Amino acid sequence: MKEALLYEEVPGGKVRCTACARYCKLGEGQVGLCGVRQNVGGRLRLLVYGRVITGHVDPIEKKPLVHYMPGTRIFSIATAGCNWLCQYCQNYDISQRRKVEGDVLPLEEIVRMAKERRCEGIAYTYNEPTIYLEFAHDIGVAARREGLFSLFVSNGYATPDAIPLVNDFLDAITVDFKGNAERGFVRKYIGIQDPEPIFAYLLELKRRTNVHVEFTDLVVPRVGDDLGEAHRLSRWIMDNYGPDVPLHFLRFHPDYRMSSFPPTPVYTLERHWEAARAEGLNYVYIGNVPGHPYENTYCPGCGAIAVGRHGFAITSWNLDSSNRCTTCGHGIPIEGRRGKHYRDERFEPVFY
Ligand code: SF4
Repeated sequence: MKEALLYEEVPGGKVRCTACARYCKLGEGQVGLCGVRQNVGGRLRLLVYGRVITGHVDPIEKKPLVHYMPGTRIFSIATAGCNWLCQYCQNYDISQRRKVEGDVLPLEEIVRMAKERRCEGIAYTYNEPTIYLEFAHDIGVAARREGLFSLFVSNGYATPDAIPLVNDFLDAITVDFKGNAERGFVRKYIGIQDPEPIFAYLLELKRRTNVHVEFTDLVVPRVGDDLGEAHRLSRWIMDNYGPDVPLHFLRFHPDYRMSSFPPTPVYTLERHWEAARAEGLNYVYIGNVPGHPYENTYCPGCGAIAVGRHGFAITSWNLDSSNRCTTCGHGIPIEGRRGKHYRDERFEPVFY
């Protein structure tokens, strides 16, 4: 049980956690909403430091990240707990059970497991990594020493206080909006009052780091699929991150307490794709619909397929060694080379 770094003492013998935008104030013995940070004797303890609850080998495209180290194998890990209460969470068995569980693994062992499985990076995913940022930081620093990159799959509900730690080790992040980040949706289905802290954090992330960023938006049918909100979100991304940041619209999969909802109609996803393109974004994708043409990267210069995809597999690569379109020479903002494993099977459960 390691002492956390992201907290401060407040009057009345309490501590205030500054890792995520809930800013829980905790009296002696109290645990934050995430279930993994506890006031013990006036100090905030990270209960899951050194405890990993699941590990898998994944394609990086599954995160989804498609403009960063495409075709690489990623070692995906998580702890228990989460700072959001998503009613449809596919990983609710680890994110929503408020128990401190998981295999005790030294940092070096995690890095060794990743390298042994020919992974080129580590993903902190399945639950919100901000809640265990100090642990992720220490893994990431050890991983970087061994030549591995680190990426977060995050809801972005973090604080500016987290940025210095992030700067030490994080290479890429996919920030996962839900229901177009519409206020009514996040209140009812996620359990946060306001999405504004996400946008504030993203501005800080852009201003103070060089982390590669992609955005995701889970489009939930009937309750989180308003096209006007899709325009608003896309416009914010365009205004603040520019036209070349990737945006993925993901198909909703019924799960947990929203198992009776239908999957998102493909038509709805396509209207979202058009909204984002109309706002000026060059690299818009549809996810969780294998075989859809909007899985591909299209060259903004000539319209040719620059990178073809099917599901998580890369099916064609029409870029030169500088990641320029081989048809017209337009530069495509993809960081890194094409990985070696782009056609292979990159799924491997390591432990649960
Ligand atoms: S990380 Fe956990 S304890 Fe800290 S503010 Fe967020 S929910 Fe509360």
